[in-house]
Amino acid sequence: MTFLDDLNTRQREAVTSTEGRVRVIAGAGTGKTKALTYRYAYLVNVLGIDPANILCLTFTNKAASEMRQRIAMMVHSGDYNDFVCTLHGFCVKFLRKEIYRLGFPKSFTILDEEDSKALAKECMDELGIKRTEKTVKNFLEGIGADKALNGYIEAYMLPDSVITDQMKRSNLACFISRQMKNYALDFDDLMNFTLFILDRFADAREKWQNELNYIMVDEAQDCNTDDWNLIEKLGAKHHNIFVVGDPDQCIYEWRGARPAKFVDFASDKDVILDENYRSTPKILDVANCVIANNKNRIPKDLFTRKAEGRAVIHFHGKTSEEETAWIIKQLRILIDAGASLSDFAILYRSTYQSRALEQALLNEHLEYVIWGGIRFFERKEIKDTLSYMRLVANQDDDISFIRIINTPSRKLGRAFLDRLKETAAADDTSLFRALKAHIGDKEFDKPQAREFISLIEDGMLHARTAAISDLMNRMLDRSGIKKALREDQDEDRLENIDELLRSVRFYEEAHAEEEPTLVEYLQDIALYTNADYRKDGSAIRLMTIHQAKGLEFPFVFITGLSEGIFPNMRTIREYKKNGEEEERRLMYVAITRAQKALFLTESEGYNVSTKMSKYPSRFLAEIKKNMVVVEGVIPDELWRGTKNLIHVLDEESFTPGYTGGSAFAVGEAVIHDIFGEGTILSIGADGSTFEVRFRDGSTRHLRAAFLHRPDLPA
Ligand code: ATP
Ligand code: MG
Repeated sequence: MTFLDDLNTRQREAVTSTEGRVRVIAGAGTGKTKALTYRYAYLVNVLGIDPANILCLTFTNKAASEMRQRIAMMVHSGDYNDFVCTLHGFCVKFLRKEIYRLGFPKSFTILDEEDSKALAKECMDELGIKRTEKTVKNFLEGIGADKALNGYIEAYMLPDSVITDQMKRSNLACFISRQMKNYALDFDDLMNFTLFILDRFADAREKWQNELNYIMVDEAQDCNTDDWNLIEKLGAKHHNIFVVGDPDQCIYEWRGARPAKFVDFASDKDVILDENYRSTPKILDVANCVIANNKNRIPKDLFTRKAEGRAVIHFHGKTSEEETAWIIKQLRILIDAGASLSDFAILYRSTYQSRALEQALLNEHLEYVIWGGIRFFERKEIKDTLSYMRLVANQDDDISFIRIINTPSRKLGRAFLDRLKETAAADDTSLFRALKAHIGDKEFDKPQAREFISLIEDGMLHARTAAISDLMNRMLDRSGIKKALREDQDEDRLENIDELLRSVRFYEEAHAEEEPTLVEYLQDIALYTNADYRKDGSAIRLMTIHQAKGLEFPFVFITGLSEGIFPNMRTIREYKKNGEEEERRLMYVAITRAQKALFLTESEGYNVSTKMSKYPSRFLAEIKKNMVVVEGVIPDELWRGTKNLIHVLDEESFTPGYTGGSAFAVGEAVIHDIFGEGTILSIGADGSTFEVRFRDGSTRHLRAAFLHRPDLPA
């Protein structure tokens, strides 16, 4: 039993307590996941349990595949099964076997987020719901809320359910009738169908309860109510449920996580781990210091027996370019000293923040991957925007033409495009020129096609005189790209576009003397848009902090630590004190990823999130002075800026004077970037949505993050 010697006494206790309800509650890096994988190996190798009888659940696909690898190394090769998976992954496996009971084929399809949005748009068109009245996001939130209420499966989705045309007038029935056309399930359905079958069919319930002798759950603090229901239901016969978690690392409350269920779990045995094996004392001091600012928590501190290690560094740059340059310098120093690329993780709060880092890494020929995400210049909205710019620069660019002719949708269908391609080929010209030449022909004479031509020609006209950034802004506005994203409340994509614009402005400043043309700009950024990269091999990992959960790296950079960016202003506005505390837990997760060295970076300049100047994050202010070495000079007024910004957010979010503690009071004047000036009519039940009447008399329901007061910058 040598492998248990790798564990400390408490971990061993957790591993060998195989029967009953056992909970491991412990801070970051204390070996929770290690204990869980060893327990799997112990069950199989020592007790002789068949892996088919063990269900091992974790949170992300990446975490599940990592866990499978760890387990594979410990149990006899191949002797583990695919019940090491995510909760939704389990539901899919379950439904492939059981969904026939509800008249569905086992080859049912699964709708991802984009598929669901597309279905929602179709329904909204059919029901005549205008996007200005309700966003796609709101529509889908409504569907989610309807599905959370019992009864929809029976009413709409079983072979004997009847959806009348009358019923189809409801959003839910309309959405479901479209789903049913190809037996498509969304993520909510996967869980709801599984629970439904377990409830309804005693034989199925007994079979699965019998089979799953042991259930283990990692990161249990992030399970939501349905997750807990499923776990309890599956474990109701053998009662061998092993849950592992850390309430300080709950980062999905905004998606329904219920850490209280983990804290209240009725256990037969609790194991508490407090020795951290991952990080140096200097890193842990910073982690303990920051998380201590959360009021809503059970106090606990981590300790380690590791050597002191390197000082934690806080770098302050005058510009974000200086910040990235400093990061590159540190990477170079460490690589020269023998570190490999995979030793590094560069973390950020929001996806748009990868742009500056990616460009710098590409310039330096340092391989990188975006862990669990997409490279900046490959994101849809960035490619779309640049395609508009390319077509303006060169009307013969057919690839760009094809990409944007129906983005946003102009309802110029496949037949239209096929005809246009034939016509262009016959005339031996490009698609844009062919469209222009033949716009008078009956088959091409559509108002949307005419508008498209004038949009591009307007761009061409402005390209002669306007700055590239102004031209880009104009194309974003006039093409409708920005409007569509705003209507969808797609914050991430809007931020990416703002970041692209910011980078163009920086490019213009940096090349002010040469007065670069649009063509030159497009040539210069081709280095980034066409970048080749290896998909395997050693690479620096860039990722959002959410993606970094559960992972560890020798060297960690937490970048863009400006107030409003991290903590994220939108989260605080929307979720108030809970939002602030969840952001702080996210900071705690980020810090505790680091094994050997931690670098915290931020800079002055323009803040894409707050649309104001940047000030250092409150989290940096919370770290005791003797715990970090500051590089760069931080003028006092910057810290004052931080305080002011915190004050503004506190006023908005936490002052009791505001009705229900919400961001705006009834009667208050507000501004929306698209709809203009308005007045708050009423506040939604959760205090984060508002009914607003606009000057033109229209009323809309909007979320706080999209409104601001007239006296504050947008
Ligand atoms: P997180 O909260 O971030 O998910 P965790 O509690 O799951 O962390 P692990 O990832 O299991 O922690 O372990 C952290 C690191 O400590 C790993 O590198 C692991 O191999 C090491 N470790 C865990 N337990 C021990 C031990 N008893 N002796 C030596 N190293 C250990
Ligand atoms: Mg873990």
